[in-house]
Amino acid sequence: MAEVQDGMTPFEAVTHFFHQAADETGISDTTRDILSGTYREIRVQVPIARADGSKEVVYGYRVQHNGARGPYKGGVRYHPHADIDEVRALASLMTWKTAILDLPFGGAKGGVQVDPGGLNRPELQALTRRYMSQVSYIMGTHRDIMAPDMGTGAQTMAWMMDAWGQKYGHDPAIVTGKPVELGGSVGRDAATGRGCIVVLDEAVKDAGRHPEDLTVAVQGYGNVGSWAARCAVEQGYRVVAVSDVGGGIRDPRGLDLDAVDAHLEEAGTVAGCPDTEALEGGELLTLDVDVLIPAALGGVITKDNVDDVRADLIVEAANHPVTPAADEVLHDRGVTVLPDVLANAGGVTVSYFEWTQNIQMFHWDLDRVNGELRKRMRRAYETLRDYAAARDGEEARIGLRRAAFAVGVERVARAADLRGYL
Ligand code: GLU
Repeated sequence: MAEVQDGMTPFEAVTHFFHQAADETGISDTTRDILSGTYREIRVQVPIARADGSKEVVYGYRVQHNGARGPYKGGVRYHPHADIDEVRALASLMTWKTAILDLPFGGAKGGVQVDPGGLNRPELQALTRRYMSQVSYIMGTHRDIMAPDMGTGAQTMAWMMDAWGQKYGHDPAIVTGKPVELGGSVGRDAATGRGCIVVLDEAVKDAGRHPEDLTVAVQGYGNVGSWAARCAVEQGYRVVAVSDVGGGIRDPRGLDLDAVDAHLEEAGTVAGCPDTEALEGGELLTLDVDVLIPAALGGVITKDNVDDVRADLIVEAANHPVTPAADEVLHDRGVTVLPDVLANAGGVTVSYFEWTQNIQMFHWDLDRVNGELRKRMRRAYETLRDYAAARDGEEARIGLRRAAFAVGVERVARAADLRGYL
């Protein structure tokens, strides 16, 4: 089950941020009601036949939060915590994320409450096909488009595309984050991590600081965290610590990421990488670094550990890694938080490029993908920075999270209004 953090469930926490920002805007009470709920939710039973002959039933969800700006868009997560509340929270974040990046999409998310690590490849394929088939009634290239998230990847998307194609006819644009050989976009795998570093660079520049002077710690070394670490090193930052479920490692001189990757390949975890110091669970979050990048689960910075967080720049590569109570403390302390709905939006941005390439039956090269990604991430950052700055003079500092939700809410509300929803 999704964990209750600081007394709030994930959806309550995201809705809290929504209301906080909605207060900045002039939206009507009806619009507020609509946007604080979800448009449609389905729960499906997904039976799994295990290789040992046993059978198990797990539950899957697809939540469509809002579609005022375009087809519903969002990933699917395979995780034991991916219950309806968690999926609702993630679906709502997708609505704000796509609006902030000005992508022509709404927001949705899927989840299957299962530990994918406990399933072998044929079991995972069967589960994926069944889940896609069960939710397919509300999916469509111009209705709702899946993508990878935690516990899923390009292979999962290939199986989904194939399962869809068997039912309705082949259409690569039904999912994004596919293998490149099947119409996936080059640069999609790195996009979320790369986008995090693009916005970090902008914030660092605005603060008059330089990457070479800054140390970075990354919690989570999966697809997002490992690419964020790699792109940070490319830009000149010193990545001094990384961690995953197996444990954490540190090297104050800067980690050799090739050595970390080689060790991970062999050992299945970054923990124990030669020539590094071991970190205790949770220690990474409170290291004396300049930049902290939580890139794993939600709700990891809470009122219990926030006073020990020493970084003055936090990049939310994960979705909702900071609870509302902890966010308030960071805000009052003047810590710059690059919120999830901006920082990790590079993934869905390149998903959008993939979708358009599929629809046009055309391929972009990597320079074009990365160039367009940088342009859009920078534009979104500048919009939020300027929005926040324009309000800072009048009252207290509003910060980038409130600015992000306010910009997202205004754009979605405007689209709903133009359509004549209300
Ligand atoms: N799962 C990713 C996210 O949380 C990507 C979604 C997508 O590409 O549609 O943003």
